[in-house]
Amino acid sequence: MSWASTALYYRWINEHVQQHLGGLHSAKLLLVSVDFHDIERLQAAGDWVGAGRVLVQAARTLEAAGAEALVVCTNTMHKVAPQIQAAVGIPLLHIVDATAQAIQQAKVERVGLLGTRFTMEQAFFRDYLQQRHHVSVLTPPQPDRDLIHRVIFEELCQGHLVQTSREHYRRVIQDMVTAGAQAVILGCTEIALLIQPGDASVPLFDTTRLHAQAAATWALTCP
Ligand code: GLU
Repeated sequence: MSWASTALYYRWINEHVQQHLGGLHSAKLLLVSVDFHDIERLQAAGDWVGAGRVLVQAARTLEAAGAEALVVCTNTMHKVAPQIQAAVGIPLLHIVDATAQAIQQAKVERVGLLGTRFTMEQAFFRDYLQQRHHVSVLTPPQPDRDLIHRVIFEELCQGHLVQTSREHYRRVIQDMVTAGAQAVILGCTEIALLIQPGDASVPLFDTTRLHAQAAATWALTCP
């Protein structure tokens, strides 16, 4: 989605493949990079059908070019994952499935969730995680959700890292820990640019890294 997190995916998918195959190996992958300005306008207007249409078009382009599986490199646009999956014959590797697998392996039952307002407040992420994977989800109170959302769009998606925002994020994470979170999901693909494991007193589940690893693992093990 934003170029800032697309670059992370590209790096981490390739690093994972290189670690497993060694030498000069790298990932065979196809990328459709959209203009995030257009997507953000559609999200802000609540036009999820329109935003979904852009990604359906991208998914069909990838399938026609020979892709055997699909990753949508954002949490927020998983809101339209069913629409995308219905439009193609190749599997969509869902970001919440990749994240839930790591949470379950760590035997964590109650997580805090950071992401865009859409991801924190709407059913497509929370309910998917709670109902399909039986992980209980906490989110920050509304003023903090607004702050987290603003930093994503006004700073991180534009490649800006601001120290005061890091401190705000750290405080919001700690508040969720105090409220009972055993771990926190970085549920927006740009947050890993700002927040690292040392910024929290509990484990952090970074959706970008977990999703990138899931894509690379799928590619390495598919028949
Ligand atoms: N990349 C972000 C996410 O993981 C936000 C940008 C978007 O709206 O796609 O949700």
